[in-house]
Amino acid sequence: MITSQKGTRDLLPPETRVWNRVEAVAREVFSLYGYDEIRTPVFEATELFVRSVGEGTDIVHKEMYTFTDRGGRSVTLRPENTAGVARAFVEHRLGQAGRPWKLYYLGPQFRYERPQKGRYREFRQIGAEVLGDPTALIDAEVIVMLFDFLGRLQFTGLSVSLNSVGTEATRPAYVEAVRSFFSSNEGSLGEDDRRRLAENPMRVLDSKDPAVRLLVASAAFPKLVDLLPALDPASDAHHRELKSLLVRKQVPFKEDPLLVRGLDYYTRTVFEVTAQGLGAQDALLGGGRYDRLVSDLGGPKTPGIGFAIGEDRLVEVLPEAFRRAALEGTRPVAVLPVGVPDLHEAFAVAGELRRGGIAVDLFSSHRGLGSALKAVEKAGLALAVLVGENERLRGSVLVKEMATRTQSEVAREQLVEWLRPRL
Ligand code: AMP
Repeated sequence: MITSQKGTRDLLPPETRVWNRVEAVAREVFSLYGYDEIRTPVFEATELFVRSVGEGTDIVHKEMYTFTDRGGRSVTLRPENTAGVARAFVEHRLGQAGRPWKLYYLGPQFRYERPQKGRYREFRQIGAEVLGDPTALIDAEVIVMLFDFLGRLQFTGLSVSLNSVGTEATRPAYVEAVRSFFSSNEGSLGEDDRRRLAENPMRVLDSKDPAVRLLVASAAFPKLVDLLPALDPASDAHHRELKSLLVRKQVPFKEDPLLVRGLDYYTRTVFEVTAQGLGAQDALLGGGRYDRLVSDLGGPKTPGIGFAIGEDRLVEVLPEAFRRAALEGTRPVAVLPVGVPDLHEAFAVAGELRRGGIAVDLFSSHRGLGSALKAVEKAGLALAVLVGENERLRGSVLVKEMATRTQSEVAREQLVEWLRPRL
């Protein structure tokens, strides 16, 4: 038997109804905020991710699905979607439109990670990006939109962790402070973290090693937000304004001076939302501002901000009421021919019901009516419309209510009206 690949999975019905409902709500909410969908390719030039996500990151270092295609090009299955959006923005010169672009995407992403609860090699993200607006107002609105979306999925009690990672004006001084802190504690670092320290000291902050967690939690660990007022007053003002806007919009947030996020392109605002029920390290979503990404990719200087929600994780921790409503949906009505000669007539009845807006599951009764009715029951359908010769001659059909096994003869032209209140 050929099975699915490690870290990938099939999403089967009825679970796919939950996914579809989540995606429908995402599209609905994002368009209420003026966003349009963008669809970028699933694979890109490897160089795109090396340059944007960053050479020293775990993603680029050990998690990419990279291969050489038949034409000898190095391509990579996208590990995230912001790089592809920024590439498309530059390639199609969207910056020339002279207005900000608000874009959202949904789709699969690929990372060669160790599969575990909530972590897959093929996973799906729902994300949004704003390109061309540098203000804290947009940061606040992006977070407000996110909470609007999560609220409509009936999440309660979520809060966003917030930090500022400064800009190129602050980075070198802060990276130096972090490097010197870890260097003076190098004895506590494992092999992986020493490599990170040499490549990019900020990456050590992502380490899950308990000894490193302890160091980072200590009071002596340098915090960028404390340095911002002196090093970069503009970033400091941006951060303060965002916080005051969130307070005004009553969005609950926690400041987390240690939040850095595992991608290199972030500047200023970074945020995450974690949910109970997932592992401690497993954020439901992450996002931030990336004011240099577009110009680093050869485009005009264009500020950006966005987030990516892990849809697999989102569905895993979805509130029960939302999940139940999505699973139940509206059940179709079964239509069955009584005998083989009634098949065409059953097809016609199914068409009439569908034109009347009623979902129909047409059964062929190829193993006889009795076994078709059993299949209707197993599918959990409540109503079965039996199309047989006797009723046809009278211009009617038989409707069986599966739970009570009662049967009623209903005139064809009244069938839609008769069924509707009973769905
Ligand atoms: P990132 O692109 O790393 O900022 O991740 C954004 C979100 O995608 C995370 O918060 C997770 O919810 C989700 N995510 C990242 N990697 C995986 C994975 N391997 N499996 C499932 N979800 C993931």
